[in-house]
Amino acid sequence: DQARTAKVKTAAFDPKTYDELADNVLLTDELHSALDNEDLMTFYQPKYDYRLGRVTAAEALVRWDHATRGMVSPQRFVLLAEETGFIRDLTLLVLKNTLRDQAYLKSLGFDIAMSVNYSGRLLTDRDYTEQTLAICAQATGKLCLEITETAVIEDPTVGLAAIERFVAAGIEVSLDDFGTGLSSLSYLKMIPAQELKIDRSFIMEMEKGQRERLLVAATINLAHGLGMKVTAEGVEDDTALALLAGMGCDMAQGYGIARPMPIDALEVWLRACEAQPRKYDALTAQ
Ligand code: C2E
Ligand code: MG
Ligand code: MG
Ligand code: MG
Repeated sequence: DQARTAKVKTAAFDPKTYDELADNVLLTDELHSALDNEDLMTFYQPKYDYRLGRVTAAEALVRWDHATRGMVSPQRFVLLAEETGFIRDLTLLVLKNTLRDQAYLKSLGFDIAMSVNYSGRLLTDRDYTEQTLAICAQATGKLCLEITETAVIEDPTVGLAAIERFVAAGIEVSLDDFGTGLSSLSYLKMIPAQELKIDRSFIMEMEKGQRERLLVAATINLAHGLGMKVTAEGVEDDTALALLAGMGCDMAQGYGIARPMPIDALEVWLRACEAQPRKYDALTAQ
């Protein structure tokens, strides 16, 4: 693996990086037992639908509740899981948890579309695609796979075939963290996705000025022109919520609506929304 070799080379000159590498080996080991010990949990972050004026969807985000390290961020271990192949088991676990929790919410009367993050490199494994499809077939509600731009471009033929299989099965495909990759436009051209998620860095910069806001507005228009709906990530405050409504954004996700939370907290949260409309419930897209 070229990326790994590059990292090892750097480590030879930087003792701090070396420590991190050694720690990664330990983490990888512990990650395997975390799966068995059920220390990997799935949190859910609500997605607000501007047109309907309520939360209709949620994104599943993995959490590692480590015995001595505390909560380890997926930013740290998802990359590690990808490099070691452990991402395969991890993703199936998250997917199964998500389907279980979606069914539970449905039994309570909440029909929530669920998004699961799906590492791009999984798309190039045909057997894994079939395994994923078999699990998704059990879903009691809408499912969406959020894909970041990496491996699809490395092996476009196989990657695209997988995406087409998912779409044909009624599973939505979403382009996650849009705008941060190196070739966003060719990626957009290539992948038949139903949703585009604007990376939170762009949303959080909207307060800076007109230029930043125009970039978000133009991205929304571009996606709409291609028949896609748009979710804004990292919506942290009322200003961003209102700005995005004015731009015709379809969905908003971020701390300004709710933080990722365990399923029992989500249940309580959804009940509270029903009982009492929130400040943003009145905001609809222009
Ligand atoms: P992502 O898919 O872009 O997920 C959104 C991340 O932004 C989450 O971080 C979420 O907690 C955070 N976030 C949400 N709203 C806000 C906000 O208003 N402000 C700020 N500052 N942050 C916000 P998290 O949970 O740490 O996940 C980080 C990344 O790890 C995810 O980015 C995703 O790429 C990856 N990841 C998480 N769970 C999974 C998983 O189950 N499978 C795979 N393959 N990757 C995952
Ligand atoms: Mg995501
Ligand atoms: Mg994202
Ligand atoms: Mg992101």
